[in-house]
Amino acid sequence: MRFLADAMLGSVARKLRIFGFDTLYVPDTSDNEVLRLAAAQNRIILTADKELFKRIVKQGAYGVLVEGASDLDDMVHIFEKLGISMDLSKMGSRCTSCNGILVQKRPEEVGELVPPNVLARYKGFWQCTACHKVYWDGGHLGRIRIFAKNIEERLATSKG
Ligand SMILES: [Zn+2]
Repeated sequence: MRFLADAMLGSVARKLRIFGFDTLYVPDTSDNEVLRLAAAQNRIILTADKELFKRIVKQGAYGVLVEGASDLDDMVHIFEKLGISMDLSKMGSRCTSCNGILVQKRPEEVGELVPPNVLARYKGFWQCTACHKVYWDGGHLGRIRIFAKNIEERLATSKG
């Protein structure tokens, strides 16, 4: 399942990437280009723009209209609409900046790219194969695990 998030949904796009979903984010793109890209790359368009959503439906493209008020609400809505759930084993497999694939690295391989205190403190490192940004299993993934749990609880509740 591949996504294309429109300009208003940058934060949702980053979170989907953290959960391992292939998500293209296009902040400065016309609606025409959004529709063209989604068709060309077989992506589901995520948007909070009602006018754009009308065009998606009219063209027979695939999209989900979200409210854009809260990331939690939007992501629960997206997962419900598409009938998907999260695969937590995929968490941390994609770069939040560029959607590239992350590969695990040994500390000595990323030593020159992270601050010394980080290198001393953490053992798990990942690097983006596209933009070369380095990630480590710090507080950021801890917070996102709580966010993931909130999504799962909401999905479980709405299923009754
Ligand atoms: Zn990257």
